[in-house]
Amino acid sequence: MRTAVHGMPRIGPRRELKWALEAYWHGRSTRAQLEETAAGVRRRNWRAMQAAGIDFIPANDFSLYDHMLDAAVALGSVRPGIQLPPAGLDLDDYFAFARGGVIGGQPVAPLDLTKWFDTNYHHLVPELDRASGFRADPTKPLREMHEARGLGIDPTIAFIGPLTFLLRSRAVDGCDRLQLLDRLVDAYCEMLGRLAEEGASWVRLDEPVLVEDRDARELEMLEHAYRRLAECPRRPQLSVSTYFGHVGDAMATLVDLPVEGIGLDLCRGVENLALLEASGGARAKVLFAGVVDGRNVWVNDLARSLDLLDRCSKLATEVVVSTSCSLIHVPLSVVAETSIDPAVATRLAFAEEKLVELAVLARGAGMGRDAIADALADNRARLAAQGRRSPRRPPRGSVAARGDQPASSTAREQSDRRSPGLAERAEAQRRRFALPLLPTTTIGSFPQTAELRAARAAWRAGGSDDEHYRALLRAEIDRVVEIQEGVGLDVLVHGEPERDDMVRYFAANLTGFALTENGWVQSYGSRCVRPPILFGDVDRHGPITLEWARYAQSATARPMKAILTGPVTMVRWSFVRDDQPEETTALQVARAIRDELVDLQEAGIGIIQVDEPAFREGLPLRQAERASYLEWATSAFRTVSAAAKADTQVHTHMCYARFGDVLSALSELDVDVISLEAARSGMSLLDELGAASYAGGVGPGVYDVHSPEVPSVAEIEELLERALHIVGPDRLWVNPDCGLKTRRYEEAVPALGNMVEAAKRLRERLNR
Ligand code: GLN
Ligand code: ZN
Repeated sequence: MRTAVHGMPRIGPRRELKWALEAYWHGRSTRAQLEETAAGVRRRNWRAMQAAGIDFIPANDFSLYDHMLDAAVALGSVRPGIQLPPAGLDLDDYFAFARGGVIGGQPVAPLDLTKWFDTNYHHLVPELDRASGFRADPTKPLREMHEARGLGIDPTIAFIGPLTFLLRSRAVDGCDRLQLLDRLVDAYCEMLGRLAEEGASWVRLDEPVLVEDRDARELEMLEHAYRRLAECPRRPQLSVSTYFGHVGDAMATLVDLPVEGIGLDLCRGVENLALLEASGGARAKVLFAGVVDGRNVWVNDLARSLDLLDRCSKLATEVVVSTSCSLIHVPLSVVAETSIDPAVATRLAFAEEKLVELAVLARGAGMGRDAIADALADNRARLAAQGRRSPRRPPRGSVAARGDQPASSTAREQSDRRSPGLAERAEAQRRRFALPLLPTTTIGSFPQTAELRAARAAWRAGGSDDEHYRALLRAEIDRVVEIQEGVGLDVLVHGEPERDDMVRYFAANLTGFALTENGWVQSYGSRCVRPPILFGDVDRHGPITLEWARYAQSATARPMKAILTGPVTMVRWSFVRDDQPEETTALQVARAIRDELVDLQEAGIGIIQVDEPAFREGLPLRQAERASYLEWATSAFRTVSAAAKADTQVHTHMCYARFGDVLSALSELDVDVISLEAARSGMSLLDELGAASYAGGVGPGVYDVHSPEVPSVAEIEELLERALHIVGPDRLWVNPDCGLKTRRYEEAVPALGNMVEAAKRLRERLNR
């Protein structure tokens, strides 16, 4: 049996590509140096796949920034009105599309960035209009194909398929994107011709849009497009790959496409197998069976995968054992981790370990299980390892190590509904906090200075003692409190100086989570994150944020808002265990966060914000699965909020501009106030909110924290006026779009000053 990989992580084992990109962007290195680093990353990946004996090795899976932008460039159309050269877009022009800049003397705004399906990777969104024309520029795929050939590899060229390309692009004039399909297919044909001429044997076209709900017309268009591609006068063999779920109704169309191979995700889309059986199999095609999960970090259950492959073998002329999707969604290698508990590490498989799994599976499926008896025994032992259940030792300096007392156990037995209702709570809170009309606040984090980051790194590395580090954090809190009192904010925050990352910080202080040192996964461009690994039962060692919240409250007479990360975001931004339903895991995390809320409440903290920026993006790709997601997600959240007393004000924060899909759930969260990102969309989300049943406080962000520009009082006032119209004066809060962590103090302080001033002016008018 042969083996296939969709793509490898492209950032390099030590994030070499990130550093090279940033050095180049900031003028600290040459184009040649960047190209050399990039070539080195590709070479390393190819060698790793070669060494593992992978048969279908990809080329063109690499990208200097993003694969959707690469596809747009190769198809000759990135944005209406900007002419691309016939071949070989200049590197600086390429980056200008991603980051903003100047092309041909004209200033260019960056393309929008959006989530790649339900992953935490973000792609650039090419722009189209009804006049868009396409033309093949195979410079990049050809170059990578020849590079691979130089290493003795005959690669499969990876490319986004035409339907996915159109549906993941944006029509700036609102035109029907599918009307462009025929023109687009012409360019694909030209591309396939060029690749064939140069000797490419396989091209893989990725159509992950097939795992979302597609209507009959879209499926007809798919069929039409591939019929035309199949008839291109000269072309390599084609496989159509789908991933991130099952293809549902599209299976019947998929198996009949006149191509040589199809790829199915049998991890997140186990249903695919039954669907394939029901459609009578993959006909005379090669079936790329995605049994090695590209979305998670656990070792493969080899015996189970072999069973799946057995079933597949009756459904196609040839079965190829494959990754379920590209491996860019997992870190590169477990070998780079030295501090993960061995009982946990033995259960992990990152990208390079998954290559070995593919090879073992191919041997087992081809030559029988006896041929891999040792590997199967080793695999059974790993799967049985107790890692998931053994709690981590409290990390150095964690609150547990300091011995604070955890919340009383009665708090753990709360119901998951908050009582009394919203109106009665609002009254109790009005009495307790006596806030003015249009109260002003922030989302939690204040600028993280280089000094602060350096101090944290030194403390972690053992270079400075706990007391010294904590004194520094207290000084930072003092400064942040003083600033907030100075600009006249009503509800203060402590600034989150102790957190490097909102998920990692809590993960570090809970059992059941492991943190990687090098487990970087690309988020977009040169930005990477290290998702924690949630391997076992989650609990607190003891209070986590209590010390800082208490200290901050003692520093001011104004109400201090404590900030926690919510259970849905903790789970969605981590790699989670796969031996129990995600909702069970989320509930466990929720109980730990709830205990933290109870501790804060008992210590007299009256306002507590539970951040859920991942709540909206956690929505399943298919409509039919959304209701059940929203049900468990809101219930996990409520497990936290329901522990709050009537006069404890619970806030939540979400930072995506499109809320339509989750608005109905907002009233189910039992919060008193919600802050939302809204500035960039000009408050348009409030129209949706006006229609929702949620009746609590609303803080639509009044300025974009991602921009260094300081918004004027007038601009903020105008947005507030708009919000006032829809929400009314009694529910409206005033805050920025998100945390201020990435800003500098010189930007943040004047911006907040203007925000407070705008609120005051409006308040005066309302009181008149
Ligand atoms: N409280 C966090 C902050 O202010 C929220 C971050 C987020 O929404 N992503 O940084
Ligand atoms: Zn946010």
